[in-house]
Amino acid sequence: MSATQNSNFINGEWSNNGQAFDSINPSNINDCLGSFSAATSDDCNLAIQSAKNAFQKWSLSSLEERKKILDFIGSELIAKSSELGEIIAKEEGKPLAEGIGEVYRSGQFFQYFGAEVLRQMGEITSSVRANINVEVTREPLGVIGVITPWNFPIAVAAWKIAPALAYGNCVVLKPSEIVPASAVAFAKIMEKSGLPKGVFNCIQGPGALAGQALSQSKDIDAISFTGSVKTGNAIAQDAIKNMTRVQLEMGSKNALVVLNDADMDTAIQCAINGAFFGTGQKCTASSRLIVEAGIHDQFIEKMITATKALKVGDALDKSTQIGPVVDARQFNQNKTYIDAAITAGAKMVAGDESMQLANDGFYMRPTLFIDTNNQMKINRDEVFGPIACVIKVKDYAEALEVSNDSDFGLTSGIITQSLRDASHFKRHSSSGCVMVNLPTAGTDYHVPFGGRKASSYGPREQGTYAKEFYSIVKTTYLSS
Ligand code: NAD
Repeated sequence: MSATQNSNFINGEWSNNGQAFDSINPSNINDCLGSFSAATSDDCNLAIQSAKNAFQKWSLSSLEERKKILDFIGSELIAKSSELGEIIAKEEGKPLAEGIGEVYRSGQFFQYFGAEVLRQMGEITSSVRANINVEVTREPLGVIGVITPWNFPIAVAAWKIAPALAYGNCVVLKPSEIVPASAVAFAKIMEKSGLPKGVFNCIQGPGALAGQALSQSKDIDAISFTGSVKTGNAIAQDAIKNMTRVQLEMGSKNALVVLNDADMDTAIQCAINGAFFGTGQKCTASSRLIVEAGIHDQFIEKMITATKALKVGDALDKSTQIGPVVDARQFNQNKTYIDAAITAGAKMVAGDESMQLANDGFYMRPTLFIDTNNQMKINRDEVFGPIACVIKVKDYAEALEVSNDSDFGLTSGIITQSLRDASHFKRHSSSGCVMVNLPTAGTDYHVPFGGRKASSYGPREQGTYAKEFYSIVKTTYLSS
């Protein structure tokens, strides 16, 4: 076993004080990516204080300086997308091409916000009183705690940190303890970027220590979190005690509606992509396939064939379409949900073949259930695995009702050739993002992203909407 790596980046220095933890390759559990050091309480406090100290200068830095640094980080991520994509593939288990795509996209977030730096315009208006002008301007908040999940180890950090820095804030990142190597690779690019010491810090390890150090600190001005509902709730309760601003992006139970008039190839491609790519471990995955009765039998026949044809394998094997599940906990949780669905009467039509692969990994065949209904536990809870359920409905009205009948509301999709039904669905779907004739997964980097109900809390992320969270408005009255 290699020596423990310096994994915490605090005030421009790498440190290695806390307890060591390993990162295991889910495609081959005998392959350890290395031993990483968790942050201690002192490390966390130092990171927060360093960010606080750096804020005074960084918040007043020139727009040109911020733009140059964000452009550099963006270009560097794009240039290194193969190298970092391979680390993500080995550590998280997503197929190499998806890992590379994630890093490339992360670079685009930085480039986009590099340009946004120059668009920080205020407003000027006349007062209702004579000889007085009113200015509305935005200012940075201070220190932002960024807490991220394992499923997009670099992209989620990028879409939060790029706007945080663009609007003049300092950052302490707490990545998921499941993906420390990806976080170190990302932090090394931040180190090279020319950011002044303390503007960006990274503390690693379990949520109970490093995560709570951020959510419970009086010196953190805002927390942007992506992860499970349970953790989001705990963070919000911690944050409110200090009146800390919070933005939470959480779980989902996204529905893809397939109507009788759907183009069948589009329906199958969207269902396979949305349900199983990324091993179903996307917050935008289509775990419920709501299919109108007239197309149901033909849809499931083709869907079974397409699901069984998917190649499951090592994330680094170029022919792999579906990588392993991230770890043993997620693997066992998926199996528990499968058993519960069978007990509840769902019929498994793909997914029961045993997996014979060269290495021991958390491999699971994409699993498709039919004869399910929307009250079953498997259609209520977020499973976060390569498991999709078909729910048969009599018409569009029932499809919409079932689609909206969920505690979550992140993305939804409809496959139809009817402009009338697509337009109606767009308006009445209770989700934050709606896809027409597209998979529920796959979003752009220049427009807002987020959900409704238990999926999201607080202002939207990404695009120009990001400024609502990462800056604070000031109204100034000027009398001559
Ligand atoms: P998680 O909630 O277990 O952990 C997320 C992060 O929170 C990790 O860094 C973890 O260490 C930290 N954490 C845990 N307990 C904490 C605490 N008490 N205080 C502070 N921090 C704490 O989530 P996960 O398993 O890493 O990620 C999967 C979840 O993320 C799924 O629910 C998925 O839907 C969600 N997700 C949502 C989006 C979105 O944009 N809506 C995107 C990606 C993932």
